[in-house]
Amino acid sequence: MPRKTRRRRGILVVVSGPSGVGKSTVVKRLLKLEKNLKLSISATTRPPRPGESHGEHYYFVTQAEFDRMVKRNEFLEWAKVHGYYYGTPLKQLKDELARSKNVVSEVDVQGAASMKQMVEDGKLAVTAVFIFLIPPSVDILAFRLKKRKTEDEEVVNYRLRAAIAELQVMEKYDYIVVNDKVESAAEKIRAIINVEKERTLLN
Ligand code: 5GP
Repeated sequence: MPRKTRRRRGILVVVSGPSGVGKSTVVKRLLKLEKNLKLSISATTRPPRPGESHGEHYYFVTQAEFDRMVKRNEFLEWAKVHGYYYGTPLKQLKDELARSKNVVSEVDVQGAASMKQMVEDGKLAVTAVFIFLIPPSVDILAFRLKKRKTEDEEVVNYRLRAAIAELQVMEKYDYIVVNDKVESAAEKIRAIINVEKERTLLN
């Protein structure tokens, strides 16, 4: 008798990497390449940078709003990064995965570590793949951070030190992708997603 086929849930693709490595640019390119991939939009107390808009890059919220969301357990995880709060809203992520969409989530190393723990403990019943994006060299990272010109020198230096610390944890990830060129980094992540999708068939 034919078995009723269950619709396969999407997979969660977690992308981390040092500030200035170009995560957002690579993810943006990836979203263009992969139509079945949706972006998890985080909430943050950080003010928007020029060109960023509410509901597209982040949900820009006040500290009071963020605290309310924490109290109501609306976040899958949240963390303080470079002096501001960032959190992954749970509902949107779960809904997209249930609709068989793959979801890409751009979080810092703390966020990725908590997600990994939740998956391992069975508290987050999803197939997740953890990808760490690295710059071709630290010099290039410093250059990119300075070129961004949206932060003053003190912030750039602080982020650079944090980036070097973040690089130490990369072996905890499933894949390390070098962002030499946006197109090729996005293609590499796309290939990883396609392979991981097949792996879920075996589970
Ligand atoms: P930025 O301010 O440059 O957009 O992001 C700063 C850092 O916060 C980046 O490493 C980014 O990946 C991370 N981040 C963005 N959203 C979230 C989130 O929802 N949770 C966590 N833990 N980190 C996040």
